[in-house]
Amino acid sequence: MPDIIQLLPDNIANQIAAGEVIQRPASAVKELLENAVDAGANEIKLIVNDAGKALIQVIDNGKGMSETDARMSFERHATSKIKNIEDLFHIKTMGFRGEALASIAAVAQVELKSKKEDESIGTYIEIDNSVVKKQEPVAMERGTSIAMKNLFFNVPARRNFLKSNPSELKHIMDEFIRVSMSFPDVFFSLTSNGQEVFHLERVTLKQRIVQILGNSYQSKLVTVEEQTDYMNIYGFVGKPETAKKTRGDQYFFVNNRFIKSAYLNHAVMGAFDSMIAKDSFPMYTLFIDLDPAQLDINVHPTKQEIKFEDEKIVYAFVQSAVKHALAQFSISPTLDFELDPSIQQLDAVSKPFTDEKKSSVASSSLYNTFSQKNQAHFIENRSELKHWREFYEPAQKQSSQFPSSTIIEELPNVLFPEKNIEVSDENSLQQIHSTYILVQNDTGFLVIHQQNAHERILYERFIKAVEGKPISIQQSLFPQTIELASADVAVLAELLPDLHFLGYHLEPFGNNTFVMQGTPADVEQGNEKAAIEKMLEQYKHFSSDLKYSKREKLIRSLAWQQSIKAGKTLTQKEMKSIVQELFICSTPNITATGKPTYTTFKKLELDRMFGR
Ligand code: ADP
Ligand code: MG
Repeated sequence: MPDIIQLLPDNIANQIAAGEVIQRPASAVKELLENAVDAGANEIKLIVNDAGKALIQVIDNGKGMSETDARMSFERHATSKIKNIEDLFHIKTMGFRGEALASIAAVAQVELKSKKEDESIGTYIEIDNSVVKKQEPVAMERGTSIAMKNLFFNVPARRNFLKSNPSELKHIMDEFIRVSMSFPDVFFSLTSNGQEVFHLERVTLKQRIVQILGNSYQSKLVTVEEQTDYMNIYGFVGKPETAKKTRGDQYFFVNNRFIKSAYLNHAVMGAFDSMIAKDSFPMYTLFIDLDPAQLDINVHPTKQEIKFEDEKIVYAFVQSAVKHALAQFSISPTLDFELDPSIQQLDAVSKPFTDEKKSSVASSSLYNTFSQKNQAHFIENRSELKHWREFYEPAQKQSSQFPSSTIIEELPNVLFPEKNIEVSDENSLQQIHSTYILVQNDTGFLVIHQQNAHERILYERFIKAVEGKPISIQQSLFPQTIELASADVAVLAELLPDLHFLGYHLEPFGNNTFVMQGTPADVEQGNEKAAIEKMLEQYKHFSSDLKYSKREKLIRSLAWQQSIKAGKTLTQKEMKSIVQELFICSTPNITATGKPTYTTFKKLELDRMFGR
């Protein structure tokens, strides 16, 4: 029998290794962006064509590579970032495995251009399937450009495995966002098929969050910042009212590296506790910095999972930092623990640290370093707090002793959405300023904003409609034709199927014209054209917002467009139906865009104001 073991040729070995590092275009994007960051660039441009399948190019103004380094960088295990195993425990860079470029070169056609500051001429290298095809000098500015074309051209099985362009582009954007979020002092842009999708000037972290996640967070971010000898945390959480129905705007970075951690996510969710609806997700962007020796980032090839030396302490630290931040924002400016009773009732505040958690943490060797500097965050039940709670909770007496409260206006209803608001037939409702509806309940009264409330009602109704609960429609007796500008025709055409679910039966009629065959039963017939135009206007307004799906944008636009506007005088019947429908909504307290729909006033507070 002959011997049968052979060494794999380099390109095959690299291709196999590439399978771990480069699973899809987005993984290459991540590696290239991280290399650019590691090179100290403060301007990084990402260009993709065909969702990265045809081209991924990253251009940076970082320190560049010498001719030899440029050539070396494509070798497997070629890295400038660690020299020995010890270095692994002090990693400050994003890369260190020296696998990315070798992997990329094994599964794509790569063109590299690089020049160092102090060299007069740069290097151009072309590599196909791990083989250098061309190398020549090139004139260029300091920095590096790496273009990879036709990803997986030589691994058809992998190429076929790629998802649709929208889906691959979404992955790319996720990676782009993760890197650009953690380096706000670096300029980033993303151009997809010739269109600039992101253009992020250098700013502060807070502004970067707004650049990426949208203006709706502008005045809605609460600062989180705690420092100890052991670790630091800084960043922002969204105010409770910005919590969304979909998970998404949640980012953890450890030593500036994006990580996924269900465990730490749980810590943050716990800090929000009863401040947000059960099935909603708060926004957070949190950076944890700690001694690299306290973690093992090497556990996962794409380095997104991470092992902490002491998980429990990190959990407790994150949770208490976020609780502290939320409590600060809720109670300011009445600091010094003049907590409003309604806040004080929240578990999140009243029990920031259960004894059980405390003792499990206390058993940790790191506990002392941590706790000494953080005692402020164990919001202890100070004696006077206890005192308030005692008389507030059981008896609700002695109301005149309540500390003055600035919280009524401050706190969104997300804390305790009202339940079971019933409007009986005898009860007449009051509308003021043709905008607000006043409703009395057991404990006080509510002021409802009619437009915000109606937007919420319609939003939930439309969501149900596209999920399959049909909307009743009326056939048009004299079908109207609607003629649109050519730019709008394409937009409307792609919305037709969803519009159908929403009760608008529109059919293309050629020449930029559509015919309206049916409309939702509760929409007045006669001005369908204006309605569709307004809806399109609003839709286009949203359309730069990449966060939302087409359908979500459509629904938001329609909800806004059809809502009863502020300033409209309402009949008793209209007011009653708004109130009733609002409180059967699953999230009655805010609009889809996060505006409050109502606010409550407690009789107790009123009594107090009048010295009763
Ligand atoms: P790693 O980042 O793990 O070191 P890579 O394969 O990603 O491995 O890169 C190999 C080496 O090539 C890096 O260590 C670095 O020295 C060099 N390099 C890669 N990209 C760049 C860049 N954009 N600018 C300067 N040097 C780079
Ligand atoms: Mg790298």
